[in-house]
Amino acid sequence: MAGFTTRAIHLTEDNQYGSILPPIFTTTTYAQPLDVEGPYEYQRGGNPSREAAEKTMAALEDAKHAYVYPSGMAATTAALNILKAGETVIMGMPIYGGSYRFATIELAQRNVQTRFVKDFSTLSDADFEGNVTMVFLESPTNPTLEVHDIQHVAEIAHRNGAIVVVDNTFMTPYLQRPLELGADITVQSATKYLGGHADLLAGVAATNNDQLAERLWHNQMVSGSMLSPMDSYRLLQECKTMAIRIDRQQENTYKIIEFLQSHPAVERVLYAGSASEKEAEIHARQAKGVGALISMTLVEGADPKLFLKQLQVFTFAVSLGGIESLVSLPAHMVLGSYSQEHRDMFGIEDRLIRLAIGIEDIDDLIADLKRGLDAISESLA
Ligand SMILES: *Cc1c(COP(=O)(O)O)cnc(C)c1O
Repeated sequence: MAGFTTRAIHLTEDNQYGSILPPIFTTTTYAQPLDVEGPYEYQRGGNPSREAAEKTMAALEDAKHAYVYPSGMAATTAALNILKAGETVIMGMPIYGGSYRFATIELAQRNVQTRFVKDFSTLSDADFEGNVTMVFLESPTNPTLEVHDIQHVAEIAHRNGAIVVVDNTFMTPYLQRPLELGADITVQSATKYLGGHADLLAGVAATNNDQLAERLWHNQMVSGSMLSPMDSYRLLQECKTMAIRIDRQQENTYKIIEFLQSHPAVERVLYAGSASEKEAEIHARQAKGVGALISMTLVEGADPKLFLKQLQVFTFAVSLGGIESLVSLPAHMVLGSYSQEHRDMFGIEDRLIRLAIGIEDIDDLIADLKRGLDAISESLA
């Protein structure tokens, strides 16, 4: 089979006129042949532009089925909507703030219980008592970048009749293939790396399981949660450069990790596999690199705002995965949705700073961070 980027570029060329890009079909309805069923009737039920995006998304994951959504949360909730009243979902922690909120507010109202699990290495059959039918996790986690062993979790879950859903936003199918590790469904916020230019809100769900695909398809059809033809086209265009963007982002990330580890104002640098030798080994086995997200804790007494004020290249903003480098304070931003109890439990301190590395020139990124960190050192001298 062709490689990742070749598939991203060439699967949806149009044969009619030799256009190297797929056409955009904006029509909401189609003239119907009287005696036979046409391939398309109405945009919600099926659209060639959306299908082109789904075909490429499926190919990028080597998945049989993929669905595209108007946001990452729409993809996440499509998967979580498979849960029925009386069932329990195990959620790996920490987890994306929106997924946490959906579980604690929406699922709870429907009598679906959530059990939060931080350490999957001790997962056992006993954890599946109480009608657990799904495990939902991210690896690496946000924002502390802990690693869960997807294959290990899938083995135990399947033995107990539960399915595994992995939010693969941070790694993307370029760096990590959860379906090959035993996951049943992957979801992704395409708003991040797949889109990569901070101008598209989109989501993807993929599976090899025909029954789960049917559930996802039906849920999407009746809930009206599908990516528009224009945004489907945009997703197709932007995903073509994802691998080279991530290569560059990752190259920058490795250099930044090295720099941060050498600076006295930084107490700890967190990245996929940094927590322990065991996690490094698991991550190396299940993913192709560190990705482009790192977190750091400043030394005690440091004022994160002083650091932020010096930055000229990094922008203080939520989100990640784009070509521009961003910095955020997880305790103040995304994770405002966590209860204080869970914030403490998962080590999300006020001194924790998350960096989403872009494709800018490395010397400029390091000079920017150095300016901020030197200011911290001076303030504490
Ligand atoms: C951003 C994000 C989401 C939600 O995606 P949206 O496109 O903002 O709806 C879900 N999971 C993770 C890990 C994310 O970073």
